[in-house]
Amino acid sequence: MKNTVLDIKSMYPEELKNVLEELGEKPFRASQLFSWLHDKQAEEYARMTNLSKGLREKLAQKYPLTVLRAVNMQESRLDGTRKYLFALDDGNVIESVWMRYHHGNSVCISSQVGCAMGCRFCASTIGGKVRSLRTSEMLEQVYQIRKLTGERVSNVVVMGTGEPLDNYDNLVRFIRLVSSPGGLNISQRNLTVSTCGLVPEMYRLAEEGLAVTLALSLHAPNDEKRKALMPVANRYTIRQVLDACENYYRKTGRRLTFEYALAEGQNDGEQDAEELAGLISGMNCHVNLIPVNPVRERKFARSGKKVIANFQNKLEKYGINVTIRREMGSDIDGACGQLRKRYLDNQEKNV
Ligand code: SAH
Repeated sequence: MKNTVLDIKSMYPEELKNVLEELGEKPFRASQLFSWLHDKQAEEYARMTNLSKGLREKLAQKYPLTVLRAVNMQESRLDGTRKYLFALDDGNVIESVWMRYHHGNSVCISSQVGCAMGCRFCASTIGGKVRSLRTSEMLEQVYQIRKLTGERVSNVVVMGTGEPLDNYDNLVRFIRLVSSPGGLNISQRNLTVSTCGLVPEMYRLAEEGLAVTLALSLHAPNDEKRKALMPVANRYTIRQVLDACENYYRKTGRRLTFEYALAEGQNDGEQDAEELAGLISGMNCHVNLIPVNPVRERKFARSGKKVIANFQNKLEKYGINVTIRREMGSDIDGACGQLRKRYLDNQEKNV
């Protein structure tokens, strides 16, 4: 199934109504079907016992259900974080992470197979982008993890492999469906979308009437340094990206998050902190410092503890809210894309 085809698990209730009407059914069946798909999360039509057998058979024939299968799981001995590797129906694999926090469980999902953005420190982008995920494939990561852990999911962050705004339509559908009262009903305030800064899509997202948090991967205090880390900086200047952030805040009222991965000698100096403060002080924002996760194929090293603390202090002196990302699961191929990469490398070796 191509990702341009809308599969049944990616459909809004109104679209399910059309499908059922075309099959000669009453529209009210749509809410029953929606509930099977997104509340009870049935994996086979056969389970949908309040629909007639004839209808179930017709649906099964015309609309195969997208279901992900876990092919690997690693659990951190340090904090219980789990990394799942899921197989898609075309044989591709993606990774998703389950984290336990005191405020509830969080799932980090992938939005694409691979990534086209080319950030120099990131493992997800090494093989380029294979394809975007369908909405159903994004939802399934959450549904499967919920089943596998047997626990409630209260937060979803779209911060796994891929650039979510490069898969815009499917992302917006995902947000609406995962927050739908008839489905998992996760509050949009508990959803975060992380972007490397695709400016036109950031403006578009601000107009959707959604209440999700936008996290911008900033990673550098000026265009020159940002270009050295992120090719997307050749398309949009920091000024353009920050203007799009301010617009997002004005339109949604959601406080912004800036992600800043600290790489030794690249962007972690006092001068960098000063420059960063100059860019963002006064904005309604919060900075999340991420000690860069060393990726075997990349040359970046994580900044030292002292350097990180100094960087944080400097920003705080300017009244900027800063947190250092708690390292979750650093014993289990922590950085984005590393589990998938390892899996693919091993497969290659086995052929
Ligand atoms: N494409 C989106 C979302 C996926 S990446 C984005 O760029 O925001 C999620 C976050 O992890 C981004 O901030 C990304 O820059 C960061 N990241 C990727 N590789 C990393 C690494 N090796 N160490 C630390 N952070 C990394």
